[in-house]
Amino acid sequence: MTPEEIVMICTSDLSGQVRGKGFPVSDLESRLVKGIGWTPTNSMITAHGPIAPSPWGPFGDLVLTPAPETRVRVDYGSNHAAEHFVMADIMHLDGTPWPVCPRGFLKRGLAALKERHGLTLKAAFEHEFLYDAVEERPNASYALDAFRRQDRFAENYLGALKQAGIELDTFMPEYGPMQYEVTVGPAVGVAAADQAVAVRELARGTAFREGGRASFTPILRPDSVGNGVHVHFSLRNANGAPVNHDAKHPQGMSKTAGAFVAGILEKLPAITALTAAGSISYLRLTPNRWSAAYNNLGFRDREAGVRICPVFGGAKADVAEQFHFEYRAADAAASPYLVLGAIVAAGLWGLDKGFRIPAVCEGAPQNMTDEQRSNMGIVRLPQSLEEALDRFEGDEDLAETIGADLKAAYLAHKRYEAGIMRDLSPEDQCMRYRAAY
Ligand code: GLU
Ligand code: MG
Repeated sequence: MTPEEIVMICTSDLSGQVRGKGFPVSDLESRLVKGIGWTPTNSMITAHGPIAPSPWGPFGDLVLTPAPETRVRVDYGSNHAAEHFVMADIMHLDGTPWPVCPRGFLKRGLAALKERHGLTLKAAFEHEFLYDAVEERPNASYALDAFRRQDRFAENYLGALKQAGIELDTFMPEYGPMQYEVTVGPAVGVAAADQAVAVRELARGTAFREGGRASFTPILRPDSVGNGVHVHFSLRNANGAPVNHDAKHPQGMSKTAGAFVAGILEKLPAITALTAAGSISYLRLTPNRWSAAYNNLGFRDREAGVRICPVFGGAKADVAEQFHFEYRAADAAASPYLVLGAIVAAGLWGLDKGFRIPAVCEGAPQNMTDEQRSNMGIVRLPQSLEEALDRFEGDEDLAETIGADLKAAYLAHKRYEAGIMRDLSPEDQCMRYRAAY
């Protein structure tokens, strides 16, 4: 018997899980054209197993139409199957986009950004995760010994990313127990989210072949630090030139970037439902955890909802090229397409409105008075998934970009998930998410 390689066409769905269907590699060429069948109700499968009440039931047919440029093939040697998958858009059978598809949502937002403002988005995802083949001990933060103890995982992971055409920026032991962080180079448009899917899957794929497990759960335990997903982003004009920096502004923000960021800040309480998508995401989004608890703009502040990032290189630095922002209220319980799509939808709304450059918040919002916060438009982010979903539901400004079908499906899915978690202790919820992500 000779093993035959299988390829999967996948979607990163409403639950942030990557699901799809496989077929013999010999059929790849024809499948890249015709795709593979898919079912609407699959979108209601929660990360924890049970299926949320589906508006479609057993009815309907869709097709996963692959985007060939997203194909990932990693050879893990003769003792293991190769990792081979390609990401897809979920389409109707007539080839029109299915409005509930997360990748389609991001593409819609990016197309509107280009059409209405002549802009593209460049983004890089920074991911924190657990690698459980190392022992849990307290003195491992950023430690060379914590790096050493993951042994070949990082080297094989780097090799896998390279085979997938993804450029590793940094890999490091993070602060928390068993926690590591991976950052990859930026990409323009939907490719940044495609990459983020591959970054997660290849960490899981490499860990599995090393006999361990990588989990991108939002938080290990109620008392630990979180696993953040920090999205670095900047805007480019039609010629590909950056439009974020203006030396005349005290913190260097241009009018264009200011309007985009102002939209994000104002909509942060509504879009956390999409970017911090688990019940335990809200254990992470609390003050003094270096995550994000308010919709504030910080200058190099690692607890801000959106942070203005530093520029490296001293006097020789290309400031305009480097200057960018970081969205910190995201985690990997959310599909990267929904995360980036939400950032684009809110930023686009800010540009449409022509908002002024927002003021930078100095100091921690939790230490400010109510009046100081309200003068700056700073509010606490939702403190539970249910609250976030209510905020998301109540927001009308982004409704058109999000689309009624996606919004309704997402709310039904996530409210059902919140219901599964409602009677579990925070510790038990953490165990569920750790296993699911
Ligand atoms: N672990 C923190 C989070 O939950 C981030 C720490 C850092 O700034 O890298 O977002
Ligand atoms: Mg970090």
